[in-house]
Amino acid sequence: MEYRALGRTGLSVSAISLGTEYLLDVPRGQAVEVICRAVDEGINYFDLFYAQPSFRDTMGEALHGLRDRVLLTAHLGAGERDGQYQRTRDIEECMGYFDDNLSRYRTDHVDVLFLHNCDESDDCNAIFAPEGLADIAEDYRRDGKARFIGFSSHNVDISRRAIETGRVDVLMFPINFTGHVTPGRRDLFATCVGREIGLVGMKPYAGGKLLQGGPKIKVNRWATGGSILEAERRAVTPVQCLAYALSQPGVAAVVPGCTDPSQLEDALAWLTATAAERDFSSVLAGLGQFETGECVYCNHCLPCPAGIDIGGIMRILDRARVQMTPALRKEYAALAENASDCTNCEACVPRCPFGANPAGAMEEAARLLSEP
Ligand code: SF4
Ligand code: SF4
Repeated sequence: MEYRALGRTGLSVSAISLGTEYLLDVPRGQAVEVICRAVDEGINYFDLFYAQPSFRDTMGEALHGLRDRVLLTAHLGAGERDGQYQRTRDIEECMGYFDDNLSRYRTDHVDVLFLHNCDESDDCNAIFAPEGLADIAEDYRRDGKARFIGFSSHNVDISRRAIETGRVDVLMFPINFTGHVTPGRRDLFATCVGREIGLVGMKPYAGGKLLQGGPKIKVNRWATGGSILEAERRAVTPVQCLAYALSQPGVAAVVPGCTDPSQLEDALAWLTATAAERDFSSVLAGLGQFETGECVYCNHCLPCPAGIDIGGIMRILDRARVQMTPALRKEYAALAENASDCTNCEACVPRCPFGANPAGAMEEAARLLSEP
């Protein structure tokens, strides 16, 4: 494993680390196997943000006896309602989740405590206001329950503001090809380097979208008015995605999500890949193929009052747009709540950090995927 300094924290983190969001719905034994294999391979940094009790129990079981070999994170501001992820800013609720995390992970502290998923100006103001979430995080640090404070965001300007408070040690930010030309991103990373802020890259595969390959795909550009365009999409390898993220200035670690040991192997292949295998220049040359407004299945748009797993349906819909199959229909039909349950309340739309239009997509999914 290659280890890198996480900014000024003094922590040494595995360049290939692990996001755990894709372990939410897999059987507990499979999740435990992935975590244990990762630790055996030298992965020492795990991003943990889901608040569902069963998920936290699974992680507690997986990490049992391994605490001294791993660096753990927690997210102040990630909660759950009726079994679904939801962002929360309720201080008592946030503290309740954090304390519960410690007990379920059988530890007395986390290494990085993130101020979770902040992309809006008002939210950022509230987080750093007196008695806001940042104050709570600092209290935990003083009490020895958190060693360092992090900030997770998808927005360049908000990330910069958080960093400029001087109160953040680590920034978690999406780093993949689709954001390569995002205005200000390069400067943001340079600022992190200058201020010795540890940089952790999330979503290196853009929710798996970059790996889909295939011939031509129709992309619905909700964010730009709903016109349809056809884009050429080449297969990109996990190694290229990880090589790209790890080549960006200041990046200490990337946290790809893996549902099973084979996907973990795909990520670890970066370690032994040749220069030719890591070469991503051809991908950058074809950057025009990636459009903003595409869903990366992160479910930050939850909770949905109708109980819909929006990211899950978006994933099925994207595949259906390319080619409808009986297997896709079956997968969709097995869902407890599906796109037809959408009331078009649009609560999900402003929560999407990627400019997708989940409400519009539910309408399309209901049309496309419901039995004739
Ligand atoms: S619509 Fe947006 S927030 Fe919801 S799953 Fe897709 S990318 Fe994530
Ligand atoms: S618009 Fe539909 S999918 Fe979005 S939150 Fe409302 S009911 Fe759920």
